[in-house]
Amino acid sequence: MENQLLTIEQALSWAKAQLNANSVSDDGLHDSASIDSKVLLADCLQRELVYLHTWPEKRLDQMQMNKFKDYIEQRSSGHPVAHIVGYRDFWSLRLNVSPATLIPRPETELLVEIALDLNLTEHATVLDLGTGSGAIALSLASEQPNWLITGVDKSEQAITLAKNNATKHQLERVNFIQSDWFSVLEHKQFDLIVTNPPYIENNNKYLQLGDVRFEPSSALTSGLDGLDDIRSIVSQSKHYLTDNGWLVIEHGYQQSDQVADILSEQGFRQIRSELDLNGLPRVALGCL
Ligand code: GLN
Repeated sequence: MENQLLTIEQALSWAKAQLNANSVSDDGLHDSASIDSKVLLADCLQRELVYLHTWPEKRLDQMQMNKFKDYIEQRSSGHPVAHIVGYRDFWSLRLNVSPATLIPRPETELLVEIALDLNLTEHATVLDLGTGSGAIALSLASEQPNWLITGVDKSEQAITLAKNNATKHQLERVNFIQSDWFSVLEHKQFDLIVTNPPYIENNNKYLQLGDVRFEPSSALTSGLDGLDDIRSIVSQSKHYLTDNGWLVIEHGYQQSDQVADILSEQGFRQIRSELDLNGLPRVALGCL
C-alpha cells in the first residue's frame, strides 16, 4: 500500500478495512465505514458518488492518493466526515459545516417536509429557532421563494456560517439574526415556527460516542431530562405565533409523549407526532 496508486475499487476496500479496524461509526452502533469511505473518496476526486460505481477500475493519482490517506487517518481518529470534507448534503443543498454548529442530520429533513405540507399562504412568515448551519431555513427558502424566513441562533459563528450558506445557494433573502431564542424578536409574529433544539439529557452516554463528541454541547444537550429548551420554546412561542400559527419541533425518540403534554399544557391544538426515516417519533407539532 505504501506508495501504491490504487484503483477506486481497491481504495474503497482498503479504506473500509481501516475504518472497521478502528470501529469508527456515527453513533458507535451502526457501521458507517462503507458510506464514509465513499463520501471521502468522492471528495478527493471532486466527483459525485455515482462516479465511484461507474469507474471502479480508474486509478487514483498521487495527489488524490495522499489526500485520501489523510482523510482516512482523520476519520480513523474519530473526526466526522462532514468536518473533514467541510460540507454535508441536506435536502437538495450542499451546506458548509463547521465545529461551531450541529452537523445537519437526515432525520431533520422531516421537519422540512412537515413545514411544506402545512399549506401556509404564499407569503407566510417563518422562524427557524437555533438555525445552526441554516439547514432548515434554507431548505424551506429553496422550496418556497415567497416565504419570509428568519433564522436565529445565539452563536455568532453559526450566523456567519448560515449567511455563508445562503450566499452559496443564492438564498440571501433569508434573514439570519443572532438571538438567544426569541431575545431580539420583540413583537414579531410568525405563521410557523420550526426548531431542532438541543434535546439530549446532560448525562446521556451517547455523548461519549461518534460524531457528537465533535459537536457543540450547546446544540445537543438541554438539562437533566433533555427538555429544558423545548419547555422554554413552547411556552414563549405562544407570544410569537399568529392565530392558527404552527409550532413544529424535533425531539428525541423517547420524548414524544412528554413534548405532546408540554404543547397541550401551553394551549396548543391539533397536536400530532410524526415518525422519522427510522420509524421513530421525531417531530411534534401543534397550532394555536
Ligand atoms: N439529533 C441529534 C442527535 O441525535 C440531537 C440533538 C439535536 O438534533 N437537536 O445527535
